[in-house]
Amino acid sequence: MAKKKKSKKLGKNWRKFWKLGVDEFNTKFFGVNKDGELTAAEGHHIYNLSDIALKYGTPLSVVFPFVLEDRLKDLIGYFQAYMKIYGYKGKFFYHYPMKVNQNKEFLLPLLSEGANLEVTSANELWIVKKLWEGERFHAKIRVLCNGPKSDQYLDLIEELRSKGMNIVPIIESLEEVERVSKHKGDIGMRVNLSLKTDTHWDKKFDLFGLTEKDALGLSKMKNLKIMHYHVGSQIKTQKSIIDAIKHAFGIYVELQKIHPTLDTLDIGGGFGIPYDRKKFYTVKGVSSKIIKVLKNLSDKAGIRHPNLAVEWGRYIAAPAQVMIYKVISEKSIPTANAKSWYVLDGSFMNDLKDTWAIHQKWHIIPANNMTGALKTTWLAGSTCDSDDKYTEGGNYILLPKLHEGRDQLVAVLDTGAYQEALASHHCLLSAPMKITAQNGTIQIIRKHETADAIGKLFGWTNGDHK
Ligand SMILES: *Cc1c(COP(=O)(O)O)cnc(C)c1O
Repeated sequence: MAKKKKSKKLGKNWRKFWKLGVDEFNTKFFGVNKDGELTAAEGHHIYNLSDIALKYGTPLSVVFPFVLEDRLKDLIGYFQAYMKIYGYKGKFFYHYPMKVNQNKEFLLPLLSEGANLEVTSANELWIVKKLWEGERFHAKIRVLCNGPKSDQYLDLIEELRSKGMNIVPIIESLEEVERVSKHKGDIGMRVNLSLKTDTHWDKKFDLFGLTEKDALGLSKMKNLKIMHYHVGSQIKTQKSIIDAIKHAFGIYVELQKIHPTLDTLDIGGGFGIPYDRKKFYTVKGVSSKIIKVLKNLSDKAGIRHPNLAVEWGRYIAAPAQVMIYKVISEKSIPTANAKSWYVLDGSFMNDLKDTWAIHQKWHIIPANNMTGALKTTWLAGSTCDSDDKYTEGGNYILLPKLHEGRDQLVAVLDTGAYQEALASHHCLLSAPMKITAQNGTIQIIRKHETADAIGKLFGWTNGDHK
């Protein structure tokens, strides 16, 4: 009897239950050990995220540079393989959109795997300049410059070009045509496709890029190399990605007639993340379809296959970071979809801003006690703000029941995209401590912020309080 009971207990596949170890959900590196603790595997190195969180303290942000490297290698590999299979003659370029996560522990691994860059401001470009001067990346790496071109931004672009950087400003508006087309190297043009795409951000009046009519109305530029578009982030279906390419291709063909140097189509960002663990399109499927479609269209139009640039940022960055919190108290809820509030020792509003800003859903799981009895919960941050919460859209989050004297850790997966640059200090809470896990080693990237350090951000330097 006893034996049977035990095997039944172990029989429950908790890894599967928590949707870990699934490539499609970007959780292939995560697992559950026999003690019910969350693990991440890098080759033969296993990180016990429960032990790590208890050792370094929470809230804790854990970055996995090896995940970035693995994802980028895969993505470039798929595109190159399908180009070969379908006899596609254009080249493939991955450009990492820096705004997704500008941190050093993100940028350096991606550069080492061969990412080119896309920047949106003079200050992002300033970081690139420093890296380039420090010879931290290959001299051939190309840098695309989007965003409104202030004088400071344009001056920096010119300075870097004159020093030999492979840098390409992208015309964003009619006002920029004259100034940017004077650039001595290659330039690009952003077109605002008149097309509806199903993303959270779908908007009728996009303020970025030239309208199709304006783009096609410009006279010949002898250095126009790239046609760029970006239809939005977190695109919901493969069909939307492909429809945008088909639509853009029609404009590309017309533009090339006016500007014969045009040879690259940059399809921007937008590849989504299955935050809610529902069936989702894959890079393998989409890359194959993109190459097939572009080949057929260009063969039909009788033009050479365009070089292809993609700027999928969220796709690469989101799964490379996990946020870990500790439950500090429980409050029961009388009548709702969830039985209890679990109050966490950090903040959704501060650390995971999209929860509050765009009602982002997250893949939330326990980081310990993963095999015990569960409870339906809603989560609250520890600012004093009633909007600092996460309810899975009014539904519930399944987490372990709490036990006296036993810490309960909560992990939020896929937090590597956008959250850090949007983060804030509501109620002056500290930003989470941050570590990296790479090559079997934990490294502290940012210590837990002290009260003094936060005070300084608000002008309270030593002595001012008197
Ligand atoms: C934001 C942005 C991206 C990245 O979008 P993701 O949805 O993260 O892939 C790429 N290109 C441009 C021009 C952008 O503005």
